[in-house]
Amino acid sequence: MIVVLKAGILPSQKEDVSNFLRERGFRIREIAGEAGILIGAIGSHTIDSRQVEILPGVDRVIPINKPYKMASREFHPQDTVIDVGSVKIGGSRIVCIAGPCAVESREQIFDSAWAVKEAGAVMLRGGAFKPRSSPYSFQGLGFKGLEYLREAGEATGLPVVSEVVSSNDVKRMAELVNVFQIGTRNMQNFELLKSVGEAGIPVILKRGMAATIEEWLMAAEYLLSSGTDDVILCERGIRTFGRVTRNTLDISAIPVIRELSHLPVIVDPSHATGIRDKVASMALASVAAGAYGILVEVHTNPDKSFSDGPQSLWPGQFEKLLRDIEALCPTVDRELARLPERHQKDVLRSHLGKGTVGRKPRVAFQGERGAYSERAILNYFPEGDVEPLALPKFDDVFIMVLSERAAWGMIPLENSLTGSVFENYDLLTRYPDIKIVGEIKVRIRHNLIAIQSTEERQIKEVYSHPQALSQCAEFLEKKGYQIKPYFDTAGAAAMVAKKADPGVAAIASSAAAAFHKLEILAEDIETNPRNYTRFVVIARLSSAAVQNADKVSFTFSLKSHPGALSDCLQILKKHGVDMTKLESRPIAGKPWNYMFYVDAMLPKVRQTFEIVEKEFSAASADYRNLGVYRSS
Ligand code: PEP
Ligand code: MN
Repeated sequence: MIVVLKAGILPSQKEDVSNFLRERGFRIREIAGEAGILIGAIGSHTIDSRQVEILPGVDRVIPINKPYKMASREFHPQDTVIDVGSVKIGGSRIVCIAGPCAVESREQIFDSAWAVKEAGAVMLRGGAFKPRSSPYSFQGLGFKGLEYLREAGEATGLPVVSEVVSSNDVKRMAELVNVFQIGTRNMQNFELLKSVGEAGIPVILKRGMAATIEEWLMAAEYLLSSGTDDVILCERGIRTFGRVTRNTLDISAIPVIRELSHLPVIVDPSHATGIRDKVASMALASVAAGAYGILVEVHTNPDKSFSDGPQSLWPGQFEKLLRDIEALCPTVDRELARLPERHQKDVLRSHLGKGTVGRKPRVAFQGERGAYSERAILNYFPEGDVEPLALPKFDDVFIMVLSERAAWGMIPLENSLTGSVFENYDLLTRYPDIKIVGEIKVRIRHNLIAIQSTEERQIKEVYSHPQALSQCAEFLEKKGYQIKPYFDTAGAAAMVAKKADPGVAAIASSAAAAFHKLEILAEDIETNPRNYTRFVVIARLSSAAVQNADKVSFTFSLKSHPGALSDCLQILKKHGVDMTKLESRPIAGKPWNYMFYVDAMLPKVRQTFEIVEKEFSAASADYRNLGVYRSS
């Protein structure tokens, strides 16, 4: 059962409630949730809930109607996010775990670790105890293999996961792996589950090949009730009558699990299909269906693999898969998890200690809390590492960054439907000491938002930024609401919360609804779902050196002679620079003069671009580099 405590409960009263339950044989777990403080009481014991309800400080008692308790959403309404080093599983990131089926030698696991890391994996897998169907097949290198795995993980900075098959190995193995894996054949090995749970470290629990979802969650319950909070469920295909693939991937298990449980669910498309060329499409389908990550077998030479070669990807195939997942991410409102050294942490590391409040660096954005810019910050920076700072104007964002009161700013630069945000381009040229250091694309999903318990028919007026209103024109027309332009989307949500009038609604992000405790009445109401905004991260020039940079943005204007634009563009062609955007617009105060905005991919050899810049500066009237950064 779940015991909801009153907001003002005294510590002594809370202790009394816990003791009351403990004395009756319940195990107690305190949970801080949105609804306040809850006590989860787990046990097979029956008790009249009224006995608990009358205790001082108790608000109400909610029975859990499922056989699994701690794994259920009722017990823990918020999604569980599991920390494995700097990797978080279950949050806004898609986590890709990869490596060979088995550790075959020290050299092989090192090669594999570097290959999957280079491709973008954030965790390394490799079996050392292989529960093979045949006793004559390769059984794994045992503890020697785990030592190699751990060494390879340390060398590459990848946390490691490996399968445990015996209770006797748990203690020794816990020293060598970051995450345990329970294989499909052991999902109902309850003694093993109990001893693995006691170790208290994260566990990937594969679904038994003939297990129902309920049996799978009961197995998770064994782990949770034995002492770990960190269980990751892994769908890996089940036995069906179909024999074309090794197993049948149960994609629908993903949304079902997400509804029934707070635990993160990931997918192993390798064992699910058993066929290399089916792995990528199933991995993408899993992400589309809501999986928090994938566990994939990758081998540097699958033809020579000791086990599961036919289903192992070549490193190049894995890299392509990650690029495809990255492209899919914005449509499901996620980001691909990256290791800290790549992308954002390059940026983050160079700034730690600057522009900070307490320990967290601040990232300034224009708008109210819950604005799409804040979403971009949360998606771009490692979760929980920075503090968003809401400001009224774009200019304020630049000033805060320039004066080191914020480490970075996050500003929108262009929208896929409405084009460039020229104000920010102008600010970038006005503040030459501020540079772009990163970029991120966010899918803009608009929602109709009102105060709790509002019904759609009560709504008369809808407030939002004019752009959001026009992007939802079809929906608004159909409903016949009065349209009221407002200065921004999240601001409109704040106003609706303040007015507390069911006749007034806003169009804004789900984050704005959550922040102001409003209800979403209709989701994704934009006419065109291909609505993305490209945001850029800005920083002071002094800290703008980005490793792994592959993209540059710059502006220029023309000298006045025939063919001036062509002369400039020829320079890019001559040096093989791939231009991805060219846009012109009038220069304020200089009628009939134009500024050009360019995005280009940086040439592999950095010096080439230095030459390009020199030639460009000479050929154009006013060349300005806006920043070099890693493309998203
Ligand atoms: C594995 O991941 O190495 C493995 C053996 O998987 P499963 O238990 O799902 O067959
Ligand atoms: Mn395998």
